[in-house]
Amino acid sequence: MTVRRYYTDSYARTFTANVVELATSGGSPAAILQETFFYPTSGGQPHDTGRLGSSGVRDVSIREDGMVLHLLDAPLEHGPAEAVIDWPRRFDHMQQHTGQHILSQAFIQVADAPTIGFHLGAETVSIDLGLPGIDNGKSPTPWRQPTKSSRGTRRFAPGSPPPRSSRSSAFARLPRSKAPSG
Ligand SMILES: [Zn+2]
Repeated sequence: MTVRRYYTDSYARTFTANVVELATSGGSPAAILQETFFYPTSGGQPHDTGRLGSSGVRDVSIREDGMVLHLLDAPLEHGPAEAVIDWPRRFDHMQQHTGQHILSQAFIQVADAPTIGFHLGAETVSIDLGLPGIDNGKSPTPWRQPTKSSRGTRRFAPGSPPPRSSRSSAFARLPRSKAPSG
């Protein structure tokens, strides 16, 4: 397994890598490092880009055996290589991802709505909520659920869960999954 240094230092932008394996993936050269600060696509957060020696890092993913695979635009050799992470891209991802976790917790507290998906991109971020009763375009906020007894919709105060009566039976069938890890 590649040692994933981004878990213990998520602010490292440059490091001296040690290329321990050369590979190909989809016809492109790729490298395995002994340790890496490059974040692979996981947990809804896209991969880092940057440079590894004289090669550009185009994609970073986790291989089936747990190794972090760095897809390159040019082949490398074994041994040391100076690595540079595209910091504006990574930092934006970190901020958006942190924001997602804050919002996901808020959705749980306000509407008992678990996060079942998270998608982060350069322009948009989306959070999928497991909550019945939302009709796209008609219920603009997740804490507005239609209730049988009220006219229209009922707005729930932040911090208080929706009343039991408003929860449909479909809610009980939803997986009570936690937010995506990573
Ligand atoms: Zn996360």
